[in-house]
Amino acid sequence: MTGWDTGLVNAHTHLYSGLSVLGMPAPRPQPKNFVEILQRVWWKLDRALDEDGLRAAARLSVADALLAGTTGLIDHHESPSCIEGSLDVLADVCQELGMRAVLCYGVTERNGGREEARRGIEECARFIASNHRPLVRGVLGIHASFTVSDETLFELGEIARDLETVVHVHVAEDLADVADARVRGYAGPLQRLLENEALPPGSILVHGVHLSEDEVALANQHDLWFVQNPRSNLNNNVGYPLAIHAGDRVALGTDGFPSDMLEEAAVLLTEARKHEPDPEESLERMERGGELLAERFAVGGRKPDATVRVGTVIVDGREVVHEGCLVTADYDAIRVEAEVQAERLWTRMAAL
Ligand SMILES: [Zn+2]
Repeated sequence: MTGWDTGLVNAHTHLYSGLSVLGMPAPRPQPKNFVEILQRVWWKLDRALDEDGLRAAARLSVADALLAGTTGLIDHHESPSCIEGSLDVLADVCQELGMRAVLCYGVTERNGGREEARRGIEECARFIASNHRPLVRGVLGIHASFTVSDETLFELGEIARDLETVVHVHVAEDLADVADARVRGYAGPLQRLLENEALPPGSILVHGVHLSEDEVALANQHDLWFVQNPRSNLNNNVGYPLAIHAGDRVALGTDGFPSDMLEEAAVLLTEARKHEPDPEESLERMERGGELLAERFAVGGRKPDATVRVGTVIVDGREVVHEGCLVTADYDAIRVEAEVQAERLWTRMAAL
């Protein structure tokens, strides 16, 4: 358990990938670049997910996150074979286990074109309007600029404004995203999202690896958040976000790695020492996730209520971990079910 006296926030993750820690077979042949990693691993895993697999993945991820002292997370979800109702599956897990969470469906056209995008937007809008769970909020999501059309961006932005919410999107994670925006006639993916009015103030830009300092300044002008994910960037070999130190509001996420924020912060510090002018300052990003979460819960800029002491985690006044054990659900049963669902998932992925 951590020595922190307030909860930690994972500002960007993917609960749907939670079973990947249970012996996911390596892709054959090995991916040679970022887009191949998506195509051969994550875009197969997400298509292979059904409701039972998704629930098991989320329960394992959320339980492990609480045990690591993480009391809030901002999730970015995609399950193209079960879109409708998927956010309720995640929300029920978070509410039951006691995790504060901001959820979205990551709208994309990569499997089913504009119809797929329409279903993703509808899932977000439906969830935002219908959710009444005290620990959970919804926002709009976009997978990334390079898998959606201008028409989808514009429509999604309009709905975000109507619902008075924000948009959570991967931006410039890899050069492929930048190249795609340029082919479409834009200076880059950030400018494309802004020119199509898809980024209300407070929206969440994930990664920003290939943004310049001028582009980070443009994001600052629009009151946008960045979320840095150092373990993921290292693992995917996409580079370091060199301009991110110029961001006014930067938080820390794990991008699908387990929600152990102290481990993420340790990797951040090691990487920042190689790449940033003031590496120690980068650790403030751990704290900023609480502010990002507070904005979405509209609690007047206060950090949402959470306490972490040795062996104990309290979220929203409820003890969820006691003497190092999860008290809101049976951890051993969560683990057993996750192993069963993981085997099913690997079989279905192999058939895709
Ligand atoms: Zn991500």
